[in-house]
Amino acid sequence: MSAETSRRSPSHAGGGLGIGRRGGGGWRPEAACSRYSVDLFYPGPGPTGERLTAEAKFVCASCPVRRPCLDFALATRQPYGIWGGTTPEDRRDMRRSTSAPRRWT
Ligand code: SF4
Repeated sequence: MSAETSRRSPSHAGGGLGIGRRGGGGWRPEAACSRYSVDLFYPGPGPTGERLTAEAKFVCASCPVRRPCLDFALATRQPYGIWGGTTPEDRRDMRRSTSAPRRWT
């Protein structure tokens, strides 16, 4: 799957490659984003992108399946889009913080 296909397929709008909304798992039918345009969850750069990111995160904040959505995005290293209330940068930071060596004090 190309990056562009990955970016657009399982998406928030549902359908796609037969894997439905937000990837695999029984949590998908409850995804709050299913009521919104997929474009909201794939914002571009700049001020408009920042506004859309904030709006998408607002939707995620009250989504009943936020945790499994985020788990899916982390497990599958989703490179684009807002998943579980996180941006790609947020998820990179989360992966870094959980893979960093721990110091024993
Ligand atoms: S947490 Fe956000 S991106 Fe994930 S299913 Fe819910 S609304 Fe969609």
